[in-house]
Amino acid sequence: MITDADMKKSLGLYIHIPFCKRKCLYCDFCSVAGGNEELVERYAASLKTCLTQYAKMAEGYAVDTVYFGGGTPTLLPIGLMGEILDACFSNFDITRDAEITCETNPATASAEYLSTIRKFGINRLSIGLQSMMENELRALGRIHGREDFLRTFSDARKAGFDNISVDLMYGIPEQTMESFKDTIEKTVKLSPEHISAYCLKVEENTPFGRMGDKLILPDDDEASDMYEECVKSLARAGYSRYEISNFAREGRESKHNLRYWLGREYLGIGAAAHSYFGGERFAFSPNITAFANGEFSACEREKIDTEERMREQVMLRMRLQIGVNADEFESEFGIPFETRFSEIKRFIDSGHVAFDGKNYRFTDEGFFVSSYILSEILDFS
Ligand code: SF4
Repeated sequence: MITDADMKKSLGLYIHIPFCKRKCLYCDFCSVAGGNEELVERYAASLKTCLTQYAKMAEGYAVDTVYFGGGTPTLLPIGLMGEILDACFSNFDITRDAEITCETNPATASAEYLSTIRKFGINRLSIGLQSMMENELRALGRIHGREDFLRTFSDARKAGFDNISVDLMYGIPEQTMESFKDTIEKTVKLSPEHISAYCLKVEENTPFGRMGDKLILPDDDEASDMYEECVKSLARAGYSRYEISNFAREGRESKHNLRYWLGREYLGIGAAAHSYFGGERFAFSPNITAFANGEFSACEREKIDTEERMREQVMLRMRLQIGVNADEFESEFGIPFETRFSEIKRFIDSGHVAFDGKNYRFTDEGFFVSSYILSEILDFS
């Protein structure tokens, strides 16, 4: 039977919770350590108001992914979390089978908390582990140890989460190939449905960024070997790489994140949250206090023209294992992909990009140097 939701356009909802217990040494995300109770309450009230306002834009849309990101969303008092979810459900048409994800960090959510948010309707948990090695966690300035993670993972399973993602990092201080292999092995043993593995990026305005030469990291070749190892080990364990840094068991890809890479619409609510909606990109200011004070006129509004959309398809879709579909590209933009981005031929000849008559996609070799290839294709086509 066709329902109303089937007739509506699909939309994702992102809700940003910018509070953490302590800032990790590498983190430049929009979050503050130890937000006081009063600020958290005002911020949550603003989120609810804003959800009501944004819902007016979303009439005619069915929301099939909701994502609570941060920060550490599970630091929200459970009552506020319930109120924000209520505001989502009462203002938006959320589909029955919507994927509703919440990020969490070990040692921030009790078994009871996890069980309650599962009952509220959150059905996917994304846990920030980064490493199974205590020394590496300390070097990153994480607030938790391995045991905290294992307890959170086990509590989440007991709470009924059958869709869990675990975040890992490579190229981090004190890490070796052996220790990274060990982290992967111990993670895989738990059988999460999804694993993300990102290379540490040193950002300027962070303690790591200020350490300069004192920060000792695996070099680029070592980090690249770690990525290669990660792809191979996870493939052996039944996780396929569907995006450069994301691996999933069959059917467990992150529907919400796929939305970003496929260029589908989403509304982001909260400090620094970005939206792509009605052909425009816009974002809230990263000023958390301003958002909590109800100052939420979105800034950085940018109309995405055809040229920009074509370039975004290259940047975002080529991150995916499926790559860019030639027919879809041509019917959307009226020009063959290989004509607009002629530079791609060079990388097909070199074996870094494959074309099977339908899709352009990176080969294994291509994925390892994807940033370089993408910049060449975009700069010289
Ligand atoms: S827990 Fe995540 S958001 Fe919070 S400081 Fe650490 S890396 Fe940043």
